[in-house]
Amino acid sequence: MMLRRTKIVATLGPATETDEALEKLITAGVDVVRLNFSHGESDEHRLCAERVRRIAAKQERTVAILGDLQGSKIRIERFINGQITLIDGDTFTLDGDLPTDQGDEKTVGIAYKKLCNDCEQGSVLLLDDGRISLEVIEIDGIKIHCRVINGGVLSNNKGINLQGGGLSAPALTSKDKHDIQVAADIGVDYLAVSFVRCGQDLEDARNLMAAAGGHAAILAKIERAEVVYDQELLEEVILASDAVMVARGDLGVEIGDAELVGVQKNMIHTARLLNRPVITATQMMESMIQNALPTRAEVFDVANAVLDGTDAVMLSAETATGKCPHGVVEAMERICRGAEKQPSVMVSQHRMEFTFQESDEAIAMAAMYAANHMSGVRAIVCLTRSGKTALWMSRINSGLPIFALSRLEETRYRLALYRGVYCLPFAFRSDSPEVEALAVEELVKAGYIEKGDKIIMTLGKSSGAADTVKIITV
Ligand code: PGA
Ligand code: MN
Repeated sequence: MMLRRTKIVATLGPATETDEALEKLITAGVDVVRLNFSHGESDEHRLCAERVRRIAAKQERTVAILGDLQGSKIRIERFINGQITLIDGDTFTLDGDLPTDQGDEKTVGIAYKKLCNDCEQGSVLLLDDGRISLEVIEIDGIKIHCRVINGGVLSNNKGINLQGGGLSAPALTSKDKHDIQVAADIGVDYLAVSFVRCGQDLEDARNLMAAAGGHAAILAKIERAEVVYDQELLEEVILASDAVMVARGDLGVEIGDAELVGVQKNMIHTARLLNRPVITATQMMESMIQNALPTRAEVFDVANAVLDGTDAVMLSAETATGKCPHGVVEAMERICRGAEKQPSVMVSQHRMEFTFQESDEAIAMAAMYAANHMSGVRAIVCLTRSGKTALWMSRINSGLPIFALSRLEETRYRLALYRGVYCLPFAFRSDSPEVEALAVEELVKAGYIEKGDKIIMTLGKSSGAADTVKIITV
């Protein structure tokens, strides 16, 4: 049985409100669901998480939950008539003093009063994911007077980005702090922090999560221009996180679409080198919000992310509000499998020039080297408590599945995101006698391996950490 290596993250929303829809979505192969704290009430997220846990348990699937904080997304306020049409060349004012619902053809309110400090004459503001652009012509106190470069229909609460980045708004808002408590109560497995500026933002989120009693891994959404333009800062952010997301929506608006390709490749490459899993996100299957089939361009976008080495691909509106959420997941699953047949996906670089600081890392690398170079190996198996061995292993390309056996539920959920890693519950400790045979039995029972198969197993015989590699014939 060939397992899909690339993981699928699906955002939940109105289109997955019924148990039936959610059941189909999970059956279709979702590995991680995203609760988007930009929308909905705390209680809705709580209920939603309970439904996911219940349905996944029924299907005996490990589906992780990712809580995604809204962060400092800057937005316009509202119009008297709900929307306006901006004409190229006209003037339009963003006014921090305007009552929130009094926008019209000439002006609209903004909640973030400091925007006037972050831009200057000549700055370009991008609204509604870049569909509308405004050039700043004059800043008058808290009023930003602009000329419309690219007009169009503009409706309530659309987002604002500054071309080139540089907004000073903090990553964690007071709403985010409240939502971290909700996320901790829910017991989310990953907490995504939006508009991360530096490593400290992630430290802050980590501390707040711990104080709230949660155990979530901290995921950095990389969507600010200044972070991707500075490799040192990018590495600082990646190292301060447990996982990262190439958040192509906001990022693409800030840096321009032409820059996005190189940035995605560098980000995935850097994250893998620094031993962090990475999600590629936004508009991957956009046309399937409406349509039953993806465009050729979307097929290639998903496939290219797989070839770039992403751990997971993410769906946003496609599953949250789209016509057929499980159909999108089925299409994505099919495309990932197709891309994974490419030989380059299985060829490892092996980190020959690296020195390993920790002995369990060396064990993980030794296992991967042996597995990839010995003929007839069917699977890699690691007995792991923290999941660290599986993480290291999954940073190395391979055509072989990595089965992670762990006692800890928390670890198993975390591993749901890692490329090529499949987890199983396993009650025994590595130092218990006969543990190898028990692990093999578990895998045979699950149908992953059979008698006569050769497998490579790592385990920690004496300490907690992996210290042993074994080649076993079942
Ligand atoms: P969002 O993040 O969907 O929360 O905006 C992803 C992105 O910006 O690409
Ligand atoms: Mn975003």
